[in-house]
Amino acid sequence: MKIDRLRAYPIAIDRSEVFKIATGSSLTAENVYVKVDSGDISGWGNSSPNSVTGETTESILKMLRGVKPYVENEVEITSLWEELKKKHPQDPSALAGLDIGLYDLKGNIQGEQVFEMHGGKERGVITDRTIGIMPLTDTVEHAREYVDRGFTALKIKIGLDLLEDIKRVAAVREEVGDDIRIWVDANQGYSVQESITLCQKLADLDVVFVEQPVKEDDLEGLKKVSEESTIPVMADEAVKDHEMAEKICSEELADMVNIKLMKCGGLTGAWKIVDVLEDYGVDAMVGCMGEDVPAIAAGVNLCLTTDRIKYADLDSHFMLSDMAFRGLEFKEGKLWLSGETGLGIQVIEDKLEKYHMELEGVV
Ligand SMILES: [Mg+2]
Repeated sequence: MKIDRLRAYPIAIDRSEVFKIATGSSLTAENVYVKVDSGDISGWGNSSPNSVTGETTESILKMLRGVKPYVENEVEITSLWEELKKKHPQDPSALAGLDIGLYDLKGNIQGEQVFEMHGGKERGVITDRTIGIMPLTDTVEHAREYVDRGFTALKIKIGLDLLEDIKRVAAVREEVGDDIRIWVDANQGYSVQESITLCQKLADLDVVFVEQPVKEDDLEGLKKVSEESTIPVMADEAVKDHEMAEKICSEELADMVNIKLMKCGGLTGAWKIVDVLEDYGVDAMVGCMGEDVPAIAAGVNLCLTTDRIKYADLDSHFMLSDMAFRGLEFKEGKLWLSGETGLGIQVIEDKLEKYHMELEGVV
């Protein structure tokens, strides 16, 4: 595939409300949109600055600027990915935006959807809707609103106050009834002993699983909680690539993993993790980190290519007050692709202009 031009657009869009989790809170979502052109055909991806990989809008732009000579060339996606991953191990989100854009472009050139190129089958993907850390009555109100809008799964952020968290989850369960699936994410907020207590209480509330209850580097603690808990424990911050996925699976450190395109360098990195999970028979969720439609659409495409991804937390675009892309439809609790080629997305040019960040050294 011949790439003629790589460009990057730093964009800041406010969220509809402040999003608070155990490790911090934010009102604005910054994204770097990545455009790759081959002749008059384009592909789009997006990179999301985040605290998990430690990347900023500036670091993402710097990485993309540095790799231009490698990208604006005759490229094969996987070998380019391997080369750039070695050169830029600290920039997985920047790499993800590029990788996602290249797959969109490849699909657009070949006239196929991305999941089709990877042997997947079309279907709607059930996504949860995440409720940040907020007071109990607000938590319940948000849960009611999301269920009324058609969501059949809720993810509740916890991790700052154990007793309050259990009360919040119990109140949501009472409000929404038994048919709505609830999972929780502690974002490393608890000690091992607190996590074990938490899991016992959550099991009584029919919570499906708990994400990353302990610190990401406490692998022994993660294993202990997983062993003691009757509900599955999912590794999120602890797993950033296929090598860590291999360690988690082989040493049984957690029951499931959360694959995020921004952590693992995009679809290429995600499929490497999926290969590991298929070898070990371990299930996964596909998650997100503040991304807009391109990376969310990539997450949906990823889901369609494997049975190992049992859950989807692909809701960050719903939290934005506006979007710079269209192409995803939410219907009856599921995300549906548009059916167009590539990722099935379309840029809204005037939104790119409206939310553009004025920064030095734009690619
Ligand atoms: Mg998480």
